Amino acid sequence: MFSYRHAFHAGSHADILKHLTLIHLVEYLQEKPGALTIVDTHAGAEIYSLKDGFATVSKEAEGGIFRLQAFANSNPLPESIQRYLEAIQPENTPEELSTYPGSPFIIARLLRPQDRLKLFELHPKEIDILRHNIAELKQSKQIDIYAEDCFKRLKGLLPPPSRRGLVLIDPSYEDKQDYRYLEETMEEALKRFATGCYAIWYPTLSRRESAALPDQMKKIATKHKRSWLHAQLRIENAPGERRLQASGMFIINPPWTLEKHLSQALPVLTKALGVDGGAQFLLKSVEAKN
Ligand code: SAM
Repeated sequence: MFSYRHAFHAGSHADILKHLTLIHLVEYLQEKPGALTIVDTHAGAEIYSLKDGFATVSKEAEGGIFRLQAFANSNPLPESIQRYLEAIQPENTPEELSTYPGSPFIIARLLRPQDRLKLFELHPKEIDILRHNIAELKQSKQIDIYAEDCFKRLKGLLPPPSRRGLVLIDPSYEDKQDYRYLEETMEEALKRFATGCYAIWYPTLSRRESAALPDQMKKIATKHKRSWLHAQLRIENAPGERRLQASGMFIINPPWTLEKHLSQALPVLTKALGVDGGAQFLLKSVEAKN
């Protein structure tokens, strides 16, 4: 079945964009005291070693988090990036980043007592590691884990009882059908819970479905009269190379603060992580017209 293991990609430039955005969304939504439900539809294993195992084979963290750390040692950083670096720090020492937290760990660490986290994971090995790691956090009353296909089950969780929710959708896109499932899921999700905040990560690949994804999301958001924000970070432009060179986040119902947050972070990330003259970012948002 699945061959994708997120440990190969932990701490990559794509994780940095995704997790920096995610942290801001959670913290913005927590400014109000009401309970928040966060759904992480593609959880992965929760925390990854950067010192051994898959991460040392792919070396993606070297072009990502390690590169950003080296940049941070000799350059001032905007608050948005400083906050991200703090949030990924808990399991590490100030001298050494030996692990990289995945989205379930980052979110779990931010939960307030009234918040809830719902995690989906399908991979038989990842789900075992995820269960083990989440048990270690001792937050079992707040976190539910589903070894199920999120595209089939998400709708059953919407809207959350508190009507305040964030859904992170982070497929591996290993299966080409994920693009279609994502569109169907977003259509259904917005029918059930139009005011939820949805954060969708996608890889920028030459594949037709990947190139079309932002436009498809814009169409769906516009049809449902929802505001959206689109951010993309490209670290290089090396046609023909198979490695991931750019990725994006598409947010439906973004908080008004997100554009400013990313407009501080993206130029610095482009400079810190860029490897050739093709490094660039994109940031665009559109307010819903009611
Ligand atoms: N969100 C994680 C993070 O940021 O740390 C990374 C997740 S990784 C990109 C995608 C994960 O989704 C993989 O572990 C994969 O096994 C899992 N997955 C793939 N299809 C799924 C589905 N339909 N439902 C639930 N999990 C799925």
